[in-house]
Amino acid sequence: MGRYQGRVAVVTGAARGIGWGIASRFAEEGASVALVDLDAAAVAEAADRLPLRPGAAATAVVADVSSAPAVETAIGTVVGDLGGLHVLVNNAGVTRDNLIHKMPEDEWDLVLGVHLKGAFLMSRAAQRHFVEQRYGKILNLSSTSALGTRGQANYSTAKMGVQGFTRALAIELGPFGVNVNAVAPGFVTTEMTDATAARLGLGVEEFRNARAERNPVRRVGSPDDIAAAAAFLCSDEASYVTGQTLYVDGGSKL
Ligand code: NAP
Repeated sequence: MGRYQGRVAVVTGAARGIGWGIASRFAEEGASVALVDLDAAAVAEAADRLPLRPGAAATAVVADVSSAPAVETAIGTVVGDLGGLHVLVNNAGVTRDNLIHKMPEDEWDLVLGVHLKGAFLMSRAAQRHFVEQRYGKILNLSSTSALGTRGQANYSTAKMGVQGFTRALAIELGPFGVNVNAVAPGFVTTEMTDATAARLGLGVEEFRNARAERNPVRRVGSPDDIAAAAAFLCSDEASYVTGQTLYVDGGSKL
């Protein structure tokens, strides 16, 4: 019997990358899983590939997490399709890296809109169900970039904001049986970091190797590394853990 048997989890930005890794891990451990993402074909294909346990189900939902009407509809669809909601992972993300003197206003707005407003809207919609049933888990994706990265004023701001958001929600929702935590990955091999390599004019392997060399554990992370932490933080084994940000980065910021 998996830790997540009988649970329904919704993961945003789950068509690929870290979100897909977390969704797959929840499915392996028995959950029914809703994948939320922007691209209809990609999210449907991802839902079809989930390693579901017998009796569990999956649903693919197309929604922009920074749109309040889309989020309200998405949460309604998840509850309707899968019969409830117990776990929310706010993972959807974008980067628009630029030094501040070159950063257009729309790049600032987009990054804060997806990471911060998206997490706010999804959490606001999900907590209604969590508070009513006196049970829920929220996990927010922060980043080592929260500590400040050159060329990422928008992203670093959003990712540190996620940590404050996590602490505030933990205080508000703890009395109602809801745990709220964050995971802050370091470098993880996904299309997001491959795009960074391209922007820096480096090959994907060259970039990964350079980052691995600087890391105390001498490797970069995989979506599975983040999924393992997520599976713990959203489980009942972590019911006395709330308001925390767990850095999963191979010690890169030590
Ligand atoms: P990724 O491969 O780029 O995947 C992100 C997913 O989110 C994509 O499928 C994307 O869809 C979706 N998405 C973007 N905007 C959305 C929106 N408004 N509504 C719904 N879905 C949206 O990124 P990742 O590397 O897996 O990152 C996942 C999370 O981990 C992000 O929050 C990121 O900031 C965080 N993180 C990543 C790393 C890393 O090294 N990879 C490190 C620290 C933190 P489209 O492709 O259609 O845009």
